[in-house]
Amino acid sequence: MAIRLAAVVLAVATLAAAPPAPRRATLVVTGGTVVTMDGQRRILAPGAVAIDGTTIVAVDTPEAIARRYSAADVIRADGAVIMPGLINTHGHAAMVMYRGLADDLALMDWLQKYIFPAERKTVSPDLVRVGTSLAVLEMIQSGTTLHTDMYYFEEEVARATKQAGMRGVLGQTVIGFPVADAKTPAEALARAERFMNAFTHDPLIVATVAAHSMYTVDADTLKATRDLARKFGVPLLTHLAETEEEVTQSLEKHHLTPAAYFDSLGFWDTPAVAAHGVHITDADIAILQKHGVGLSHNPESNMKLASGTAPITKCLNAGIAVGLGTDGAASNNDLDMFEAMRQTAFLHKLVEKDPTAASAQSVLEMATLGGAKVLGMADRIGSLEPGKLADLIVVSMQSARQTPMYNPISHLVYVTRGDDVRTTIVNGRILMRDRRVLTLDAPAVLAQARSMAKKVRAAVEAAAVPQSSIAR
Ligand SMILES: [Zn+2]
Repeated sequence: MAIRLAAVVLAVATLAAAPPAPRRATLVVTGGTVVTMDGQRRILAPGAVAIDGTTIVAVDTPEAIARRYSAADVIRADGAVIMPGLINTHGHAAMVMYRGLADDLALMDWLQKYIFPAERKTVSPDLVRVGTSLAVLEMIQSGTTLHTDMYYFEEEVARATKQAGMRGVLGQTVIGFPVADAKTPAEALARAERFMNAFTHDPLIVATVAAHSMYTVDADTLKATRDLARKFGVPLLTHLAETEEEVTQSLEKHHLTPAAYFDSLGFWDTPAVAAHGVHITDADIAILQKHGVGLSHNPESNMKLASGTAPITKCLNAGIAVGLGTDGAASNNDLDMFEAMRQTAFLHKLVEKDPTAASAQSVLEMATLGGAKVLGMADRIGSLEPGKLADLIVVSMQSARQTPMYNPISHLVYVTRGDDVRTTIVNGRILMRDRRVLTLDAPAVLAQARSMAKKVRAAVEAAAVPQSSIAR
């Protein structure tokens, strides 16, 4: 009895002295420099991130996290940066299948003589599935955790994106001429609505509609896409003022700039994402600002097609949300968002003749929190903060190229390449760990893409001097 009592007393004493029991975490990433992109833009060196399920529960020092959380799994990130996953605000994932198929051409020639005809001959559910799997593999390997897409057979894009565990804002394309998945705009709209219904409330996919552009879609159809996006409460996607030619045609036909024409239709009366905005005027910027339209800046595509340079400094000064995009791989030709950051900084310094333009901090913001704002998701993603979804990456800073590191922000924008990403986590799930992709069979994805490429090559070679189907 005496012994039992002593044991009870000892147990009670131990209980009183013990710190509170650690809380459960499914995953802790610890030991690296944490670039939070939170309200104070805090950098913890070293720091740690605790994740429970799909959500970040704490961002703190490694010691504090170790004290407070007992983790089922721990990723050591010593000598690395832990940061929010990159958000690609504009692309056409499956177009990786046309990578390098036609280069060194102006946009309208490239689109109308090569890309649209190649798509007419080859776009199928199979090509979209194989292409998207290849694209999301490349994106996971280079630290992108969300991609925005405008394409055909968008349900295949959604399935391939979900299968890889990535997040997607995916728009079923509506365009004014017959395409592989719809003979008419009405058919495309019906298809978009079915797609949006099928993926409502999906944890990874925001299913939406993409009106290709004001020069390929008629007014009534543009209004119908707006109504559809509004009905589902999702962002409406479109291309805007990508080339001078688009603006000239718009002025001739409508006596309005593309942004003003959209405005005259009430197209901007619902949250929208405009890709490019290369040739927008001060009045256009005021329109976009007034309606809270987000701008997706695609510097590499704009440079490669010599489309021009979007006035992003003016847009940011006007309070417009600006994110970065790669655009499709056929006009880039890769999906590396680190390269998009670096090119953004260099391009704007050169064009604005101002080395202080597009600072590393502001460019990193565009690729993370800015992108989240463009997509209306800044309350859920874009920074590492408790309560936000666990979309984060670990970037190695160990190579010769990364040494020495005084300032992680400088390195992320001016030195880092996609291949430096070691680990990619989306919605709390590890998609790539120490460069090994866990959610996709990478060799199989590559083999399927190579085999599909043979069909693309044969189809394009069989097409005799393809001509545009678009009436000017
Ligand atoms: Zn595009």
